[in-house]
Amino acid sequence: QTTFKTTTKDPYPDWKAGEPVPYAALCTTFSKIEMTTKRLEISAYCSLFLRQVLRLTPNDLVPTILLMINKLAADYAGIELGIGESLIMKAIGDSTGRSLQVIKADQNEIGDLGLVAAKSRGKQPTMFKPKPLTVAGVHKALLTIATIEGHGSQGRKIADIKKLLSAADVASSGKNVDITKDKGGPSEAKFIVRTLEGKLRLGLADKTVVVALAHAIVYHEASAKGKEPNTEQLAKGESILKSVYSEIPSYEVIVPAVLDHGMSKLRENCKLQPGVPLKPMLAKPTKSITEVLDRFEGKHFTCEYKYDGERAQIHYVANDSTQEFATAVPQAGKIDKGIANIFSRNSEDLSKKYPDILGKLSTWVKGSTKSFVLDCETVAWDVEEKKVLPFQQLMTRKKKDVKVEDVKVKVCVFAFDMLFLNGEALVNKPFRERRDLLHDAFNEVQGEFSFARYGDTSELEEIQVLLEDSVKASCEGLMVKMLDGPESSYEPSKRSQNWLKVKKDYLSGIGDSLDLVVLGAYFGKGKRTSVYGAFLLACWNPSAQVFETVCNIGTGFSEATLEQFHSELKEEVIDKPKPFYSHSTGNKDQPDVWFEAKQVWEVKTADLTLSPRYKAAADQLGAGTGKGVSLRFPRFVKVRDDKKSEQATTSRQIAEMYQRQESVAKNKGPAVDDDF
Ligand code: ATP
Repeated sequence: QTTFKTTTKDPYPDWKAGEPVPYAALCTTFSKIEMTTKRLEISAYCSLFLRQVLRLTPNDLVPTILLMINKLAADYAGIELGIGESLIMKAIGDSTGRSLQVIKADQNEIGDLGLVAAKSRGKQPTMFKPKPLTVAGVHKALLTIATIEGHGSQGRKIADIKKLLSAADVASSGKNVDITKDKGGPSEAKFIVRTLEGKLRLGLADKTVVVALAHAIVYHEASAKGKEPNTEQLAKGESILKSVYSEIPSYEVIVPAVLDHGMSKLRENCKLQPGVPLKPMLAKPTKSITEVLDRFEGKHFTCEYKYDGERAQIHYVANDSTQEFATAVPQAGKIDKGIANIFSRNSEDLSKKYPDILGKLSTWVKGSTKSFVLDCETVAWDVEEKKVLPFQQLMTRKKKDVKVEDVKVKVCVFAFDMLFLNGEALVNKPFRERRDLLHDAFNEVQGEFSFARYGDTSELEEIQVLLEDSVKASCEGLMVKMLDGPESSYEPSKRSQNWLKVKKDYLSGIGDSLDLVVLGAYFGKGKRTSVYGAFLLACWNPSAQVFETVCNIGTGFSEATLEQFHSELKEEVIDKPKPFYSHSTGNKDQPDVWFEAKQVWEVKTADLTLSPRYKAAADQLGAGTGKGVSLRFPRFVKVRDDKKSEQATTSRQIAEMYQRQESVAKNKGPAVDDDF
């Protein structure tokens, strides 16, 4: 709760009701947030600012929130920032009349392009006072920059960035910005550049903003009645908004609904609906079947095959349904008898990748099924042998603009959960009921659409047999799920204790593979001289918003993959590690090159150990020793194209794995949001 007292003074007095939200006002708030590491304070500053927006310019609430979370739209719109360093450096140079060489030298010294921009902007003489930037204006300009495509797009992007930076207020940038003081202050140029890079680095996780928005709305509603809300009302608002956001992670949908209907009626008016993908529920790893039995002791559970393909969420509305397909989705596709979309684990649109699925969908749907949201796995299928193919086969499929007639690798959809059916959200129903509804809604067609195979048993020997059978059927192992009661509800975006994965390959090790971000590389020796021979990998710490190094890796690569990585990663080389890379500064520990934190690799390890060379989970486990967790004998498995760097394995997950391995503590914590 917000026990933190902030001054009630307007954070930005020049901004009048009805006027567009000044970007400088948002930057002032960002700067305050940047100066603290306390969660409560961060949330309070954020909430205070949103209250101000609600009071003065509610129409700007959506762009304000989006800029706070460093996004331009909900994930499913597929609009991303993350503009490369070299492009931004050119634009900073062009907009401030400083040479690229000087900018590069500054970047080498400072290592934060945002601060380089602030410094460059501060040095510029004020010829004329630029028209103040507004939040809506910055959001719109960034949207244009992010969506410029085609011939000459780089040049146009640079020109647009230059325009934006030229308009950044010199006064608020600070004429003589002392970048060592106040982290550069509320400089507009600094925050524009960081936003362009896709790394605002304020510790403003999605969850913080959801909570801050909930508080802002509750305060706003109470003050309309001349009252102050109490703790209970704040907590209630928080819980409503969190649950609505987990079903509809889209401020474009939620904000208008809450403004129209108020917090108390938000749930009825803003529900899971086909067209807006929800963040999938995820599983916790286990190291043995006995661990599963321990965790689910006395409960009913089911053991499903864990198929090794790509997670997919299929949304569908039949032509003769009264249910609407959310208009928020620009790319919804018409199919035979209805409208449908396929979304990835990341809420990206996969419809152009799987026209073969969309083409056949209506033939699997029973006549009584008018609308649904289906959770499933698409798996490569051997048509001749009538069996599942390894994941690698699926990876050979084209990712975009696939034509049905060109499809070489056929896929079969394995359905395992039903989240919405015939106008009703099912997420809060017990899994047993959801599964029955799923089985009633479709017809199985061999090699095209199947229900995930399962066995409902709590006998160790029977689970062992199911595990063996799943592996024989080319699956990775089992997904063990709670069947009854509230614990078996679908928990969007949670890595939940109520879903356990048992992966055959990892049973003797730490229970799972890890998905790690490539931060640097070492030049190869001997046969590997023309490529990188080893790499520095890191996990993600969402609360500190830093990538923490976890191992060097040089095993598991074929010559061809090393060549491929060399040519791909060359493009990502940066001069210095970013300020949000937490790594050892020892001379011997520096890689030959550093990269932008983009690629995510799945990696196997024998076990985990503590090491002064690495930083993973050091603040959670190091107990003042500065030692982080590190991987012993890491081995490359595959590239995780479906994960962004912020979806890599988190330090908390690594700490949990380490503790379980060391039997330091039993892993019985509550379900946690995967992102936080
Ligand atoms: P990984 O896929 O490497 O295990 P992850 O982080 O993507 O990691 P997890 O929660 O660890 O996801 O594992 C669950 C994944 O397994 C789901 O995202 C889904 O893609 C896949 N899967 C396969 N079969 C099932 C099933 N029967 N039930 C749920 N998920 C399944």
